[in-house]
Amino acid sequence: MLIYGKEIREKIKQDVARAAQQTDMSMVVVRIGDDKSSLAYVNGIKKFGDETGVKVGITNLSAGVSQEEAIGYIEELNRDPGVNGIMLQTPLPAHLQAGVLVNAVDCHKDVEGIHNFNLGKLISKQAGIQPATPRAVISMLKHYSIDIEGRKVCIVGRSAILGSPLAMMMSSENGTVTLCHSRTRNLGDETRRADILVAAVGKAGFITPDMVREESVIIDVGINFDENGRMVGDVHEEAKTKARMASAVPGGVGLITVAELFNNLRIISQSR
Ligand code: NAP
Repeated sequence: MLIYGKEIREKIKQDVARAAQQTDMSMVVVRIGDDKSSLAYVNGIKKFGDETGVKVGITNLSAGVSQEEAIGYIEELNRDPGVNGIMLQTPLPAHLQAGVLVNAVDCHKDVEGIHNFNLGKLISKQAGIQPATPRAVISMLKHYSIDIEGRKVCIVGRSAILGSPLAMMMSSENGTVTLCHSRTRNLGDETRRADILVAAVGKAGFITPDMVREESVIIDVGINFDENGRMVGDVHEEAKTKARMASAVPGGVGLITVAELFNNLRIISQSR
């Protein structure tokens, strides 16, 4: 059975719209360069803002901007009391270090929840702004009443914005987590053991039917594009058919991620 993100997105959208009527909510998305793949995502953020009454500004800095100039611009946004949230759109041009720029954002305006301060809070199990995509995964499991507690969770992909914080969050939900990556040996042995398998690799159709069990629930976080420009996930369609439940791509986690970004902005704005 395929599972979708639309209902969860709509529920969060209503909460955000209600909050925006009572509190000034505004965020700025900083784009550097002209990466076409991120344009649809940024447009989706703008649309969500328009639909909820949240002010979303989009700043386009030129691809040739220096790291110091980019930091200078982010610091201006940090000081601007009219800006509650800041998001740095990736990928960045190769001469810029994402880790440095993300941490130049005021941690109290970090709508993505990926500043070291917020990731530190996650590890030490303190309340704080959590990364939007891992939150979207947890929201999807909860919406479909899929227990995490006591379950074997296998996450394939350990990036600092996705797989690694998700592993912490799944552990906080009392799942037993295996975090896999490109050096994992016998990956199929790990994925086949999972009750909940999360694919966050960035390779189309990477998880094949032989790597999953019939009883498992699969959350496909991957966003890839095939040769016809069609969006596809990391999990092969036949693997999804084999599993008990699997999230759709498109229409799954990606739909919720944008909503979780705005949910973070709501939390930030209401706590000011
Ligand atoms: P990333 O930074 O490129 O990380 C990819 C991870 O996959 C790495 O940890 C890498 O291992 C692992 N990996 C690569 N090849 C592997 C292999 N052969 N076997 C096992 N593991 C392997 O990517 P990301 O930013 O986390 O994104 C992952 C995917 O999620 C992408 O498709 C991205 O577009 C998508 N995404 C979706 C959303 C959403 O809202 N749905 C949001 C963000 C990202 P190493 O650490 O060993 O290199």
